[in-house]
Formats: sequence, C-alpha cells, structure tokens
Amino acid sequence: MSETPKIEEATKKDMKDVLAAVKDLKCPIQRSLVFVEEFLSEPMCGKCHPCALGSYEALVRLKKIAAGTGKQADVDAVQRIADQMLEGSRCIKGKDTAKFLLTALKTASFQEHLEGHCEEHECTSYVIYRVVPEKCVLCGLCQEACRYNAILGEKKVSYRSGYLPFEIRQKRCVKCGDCFTACTYGAIEKIEENKAALV
Ligand code: SF4
Ligand code: SF4
Ligand code: SF4
Repeated sequence: MSETPKIEEATKKDMKDVLAAVKDLKCPIQRSLVFVEEFLSEPMCGKCHPCALGSYEALVRLKKIAAGTGKQADVDAVQRIADQMLEGSRCIKGKDTAKFLLTALKTASFQEHLEGHCEEHECTSYVIYRVVPEKCVLCGLCQEACRYNAILGEKKVSYRSGYLPFEIRQKRCVKCGDCFTACTYGAIEKIEENKAALV
C-alpha cells in the first residue's frame, strides 16, 4: 500500500508578521492601513464584534484618508473604533491593533492628511512625479523603467538635434516610483500634488 503524501501545512500569519509588514513604513496613516489590512488577512479570527466589525470599518476609513478623500468624521470613526476595540476585544491581538491605531492617532499626520499632505510622501494620492528639464540628460532610463508607458520623450543620439523632452503623462502614471529609482541624474522629483501648480 502506498503512503499518503504528507501535505505541508501553510504557515499561519501572526502578529509578528503584521508588525514586520509595517516596519519600513513611516507615514502613520500608511502604517495603520497596512497594519489593519495584514491583521484582517489572517490573525483576526472574527470571534468578537468590536474587533471584527471595527477593524473592517477602520480599514475603509483609513483607505479614504490615504486616498485624500477622508474627512474629520473618518478620523473620529477610527478613534472610536480603536477605543472600542481596546475595551471590547477579548484577546491581545485585537487590543494590540487598537493600541497601534491609538498611537498613530496621537501624531499630527491625521490632521495633515485632512489638509491635503502626506509628510512622508507615502500616500500616493498626495504626490506626483515630474521630470526636471534642467537636470534631464535625455538618457531614457526612466522610459525603459516605466511599465505603464507613461513617459514621453526622445533619447539623445549623437547624429541629430531637436528632441522631444522627457515628460510624465500624469493621467497614465500610477505613481509606482520606478522612474524615480531608475533616474541616476536626480532629474525626477516627487512632489506634493497641491504644490505642483506652484512650482
Ligand atoms: S479580539 Fe481576538 S478573539 Fe476577538 S475577533 Fe479579534 S482576534 Fe478574534
Ligand atoms: S532617467 Fe532621468 S535623466 Fe534620463 S531621461 Fe529620464 S528623467 Fe531624464
Ligand atoms: S511613477 Fe511609475 S507609472 Fe509613473 S511615470 Fe514613473 S514609472 Fe511610470
């Protein structure tokens, strides 16, 4: 009789993994959003209401705030949810999530996001990428790096003059940041959307 193959059990995500997912993030809104998203993806077991319903609602509200469409009512809701989760969660996982949110809520970032800026430039809705013509050497590295065909421009070649300058088509740009990393000349800047019109 042949032996039944041993099925490897998938490793369960725990709160350490949730914390690891936010360790490189700086913006308190992004940190909260990713923390709650990761918590909901597995450690949250759904056994008690303040945690189960609260974390889902918190995620919706945090997404709005990060997308630049949040209002004071959304921040107040996250505060209320965190307070209720701290009080009513039955286990340490729910309480730790509440504490994480409460710490983030103490920073100035929630107010700043309501006013239209993300200090850390991690919430992509608040930033745009732009080519600085004075620094651009027409190498085309950014265009090669862009998977969304969002960069117009012509590479410099020795036998001709008159080039189409490099420019980011904002409507196509998904703000992945690949061009920013690819440009070794510092010719792509990441600026706040509401300041873009001023410079
Ligand atoms: S507080 Fe704990 S037990 Fe209750 S739903 Fe959240 S993870 Fe489950
Ligand atoms: S990578 Fe930088 S220098 Fe090269 S074309 Fe793009 S913006 Fe210009
Ligand atoms: S941020 Fe991403 S999508 Fe936008 S232009 Fe740069 S590489 Fe393309």
